[in-house]
Amino acid sequence: MKVVSNIAELRALLGKWVGNSSSIGFVPTMGALHKGHLSLISRSIKENDKTCVSIFVNPKQFSPDEDFDIYPRDLDQDILTLDGAKVDLLYVPRLEEMYKPGSLTVITVPVIGDILEGVYRKNLFSGVAMVVAKLLIQVGPHRLYLGEKDYQQLCVIRQMVDDLDISTDILACATIREKDGLAISSRNVRLSDQQREVAPLLHQTLLEAAEAFDNTGDELVTAENSTRKLVERGFDKVDYFSICDGLTLGAIGPKTENIRILAAAWLGNNRLIDNIALSTILTRTAGGNNN
Ligand code: AMP
Repeated sequence: MKVVSNIAELRALLGKWVGNSSSIGFVPTMGALHKGHLSLISRSIKENDKTCVSIFVNPKQFSPDEDFDIYPRDLDQDILTLDGAKVDLLYVPRLEEMYKPGSLTVITVPVIGDILEGVYRKNLFSGVAMVVAKLLIQVGPHRLYLGEKDYQQLCVIRQMVDDLDISTDILACATIREKDGLAISSRNVRLSDQQREVAPLLHQTLLEAAEAFDNTGDELVTAENSTRKLVERGFDKVDYFSICDGLTLGAIGPKTENIRILAAAWLGNNRLIDNIALSTILTRTAGGNNN
C-alpha cells in the first residue's frame, strides 16, 4: 500500500492509475478503523480497480465544545489494518495543506443540513461538506463509499455532490453492528461498562418505534413515546427522535415511500447516533438485512 500525505504525490499516483483506465473507489474516514469502515473498504475493493482510503480528523466539523482533541487516533494500527485489507492507497492529508492560511471559501448545505444533527452540532455539516468536497476534488474518484450509520451526512453529501455537479457516484453501505445491535463507532471505546450495556437499547428502541409506527401510523406520538422510553432505559438525554421522510429528512407526506427513523441520545459525555429504515422490521422478519 502506498501512503501519501500531500496533494502532488496523490495526484501523480492517481493520474497514473486513471491513465491506465483504472476505476477508483474512495473511502474517506477519520481513522480509528473498525469493522464498519472495513465493510465500505471491502466493497470498494470489490467494485473498483483501485481503492483509496483517507484518514483525516477534520477540525472544521467539530465545534469548540466537542471532542476533537480526544477523538480516538491510532494511525500505526490503521496502516497495518489497511495494508492487510489490500487497500492500494492511503491518503493522510496534512492539516496545513488541507486548510491553507488565507483560504476563504465556505460550503454550506442548508435545509437538510440545518435540521436534526445540524441543530445540535453547529459546525458539523459545513465542515463535512467542505472536507468531502476538497477530498473529492483532490482524489477525483469514480465511486464514493459512505456509511448509512451517518445517515444525515450521507444525505447532505448527496445533495452537495448533485448541486456541484461532481461526477462521482455515491454508494451507501449498510450499518455494521455489534451482535447486540449497537452500531459500531470509533467513539464506542469511550463507553464505560455500564454505558456499554445500555447503548444497544438505542437500536432496540428504533426497532420498536418502527413496529409501533407501522401499527399506528402516528409518527409524533411514536417519537414521543420512544424518547420517554430511552430515558427510562438509562439514557441521560435525547437530542432528537425523528420518524421522517428518508430523502428530505423532513415531515412524512402522503407521497413518502422511504421512511427513516433517526435518533441521537447521550450516555454521560458520550453522544450516540443511530438510524434505521422503516422496512427494517419487514426485512428482519423475512430473515434478511439486519440493518
Ligand atoms: P468516520 O471515520 O466515523 O468519519 O466514518 C467514515 C465512514 O465510515 C463514514 O461514511 C461512516 O458513515 C462510515 N461508518 C462508520 N461507522 C460505520 C458502521 N458501523 N457501519 C457502516 N459504516 C460506518
